[in-house]
Amino acid sequence: MPHRVEPRTGVAFMLDRGQRLTVSDPEGGQVADLIAFNRDDVDETLSNGRTLDYASRIYLTTGDPLYSNRSNVMLDIVEDDVGRHDFLLTPCSKDTFRILYGDTDPHRGCFGNLAEALAPHGIGADRIGTAFNCFMNVPVNGETGTFEVLPPLSKAGDRIVFEARMDLIIGLTACSAPLSNGGSFKPIAWAIA
Ligand SMILES: [Zn+2]
Repeated sequence: MPHRVEPRTGVAFMLDRGQRLTVSDPEGGQVADLIAFNRDDVDETLSNGRTLDYASRIYLTTGDPLYSNRSNVMLDIVEDDVGRHDFLLTPCSKDTFRILYGDTDPHRGCFGNLAEALAPHGIGADRIGTAFNCFMNVPVNGETGTFEVLPPLSKAGDRIVFEARMDLIIGLTACSAPLSNGGSFKPIAWAIA
């Protein structure tokens, strides 16, 4: 049975080298922020800059590796029903909602949820960088570099599967940002095999 991440919450869990993590969108149109740390040395974490540099693309899918800040492969994408994910933007946070949405009493967002879930593993908030945002749909204008955050292309039951290339601590959210998911906060499901 898959585990469930409730709307606007986050979790942390262990993923061993060689295990596969399936992240699925049970209702469709929801985003899941995924971040990974080397379990043996949490200074090593997912790096969007290195990953996109080596891929020479900003949209990643089946067959693409996700690299760490030390240029080691942390995860491989081994299956992908959707083909559109984001690896440019940081987890939504109370500052996102304050600056971008003008909220006066902002939700703590994926960032706050990840910080709370990762704290028991000795990972402080300042270590949380750019997450791999499963199903997040951020089309970029190739001429101007401007981008939009549009509703995900994921349909109910769509999934993306990662294989761990080292022992990891994973943080995972059901995104809290209205723009990411078309204004509908939904759960996310995950399973390890
Ligand atoms: Zn979010």
